[in-house]
Amino acid sequence: MKYIIGNWKMNKTAGEIVEFTRGLKKYKFPKNSNVIFGLAVPYVYLLGMSKLQGHFLIGAQNVSSHENGAYTGEISAEMLADVGLDFCIVGHSERRHLFNESNADVNNKLKRLQEYDMLPILCIGETLEEFEANKTKSVLSEQIKSALDGLDLKKEMIIAYEPVWAIGTGKSASAEIIKDTTAFIKDELNALKVDYPILYGGSVNPANASEILHIENVDGALIGGASLDSDKFVQIGSCLY
Ligand code: PEP
Repeated sequence: MKYIIGNWKMNKTAGEIVEFTRGLKKYKFPKNSNVIFGLAVPYVYLLGMSKLQGHFLIGAQNVSSHENGAYTGEISAEMLADVGLDFCIVGHSERRHLFNESNADVNNKLKRLQEYDMLPILCIGETLEEFEANKTKSVLSEQIKSALDGLDLKKEMIIAYEPVWAIGTGKSASAEIIKDTTAFIKDELNALKVDYPILYGGSVNPANASEILHIENVDGALIGGASLDSDKFVQIGSCLY
């Protein structure tokens, strides 16, 4: 199974979403294919997107680390489950770096999602500084261990390896780096006796998708910029069928 998951971030109006879904209509998605498409959309559009469910997984980009109560502006895991979402992204590098989310926050968010059996897509990845200082593996190892601490590891999860220096830069990591790093993540997961799918994210586009998606241990892609365009988004997945 390969996952093609778009992350719209804080983009699109309702009108642009209508254009996007119209754009999808010209494509035939093969039945029984082993490719699963999904979209993580802004909260306010989640209910409207449920029309696509069945064909696409629909998910949120973030969840509160708290349960319910006096947390103005927050959205709880219970609410996400209540509106029937399929998944939720946790620990995206923009949350970690722009909103100071710590490994402990990420761990709490995963716990909240597990309480409602919601599938998490856990993002991990090193900064440019860490990459250049050869710290990628120690950073990833720490991110994985702290995120999974105290969780029920038998429940489903997807891991997205997203080198921070490749996100939104137009410059994806090389196939060699992706192969080496995802093999390392697989070993770390095996040591914990789990076998979660591993996605790669960071400037995936129709031109580099085929090479990336055929790398051993890469079970799909998390796509930012290119997922905003229905043609590019579908083309990325179509290299698999
Ligand atoms: C992302 O934000 O998860 C991402 C991978 O973005 P982009 O594809 O634009 O690099």
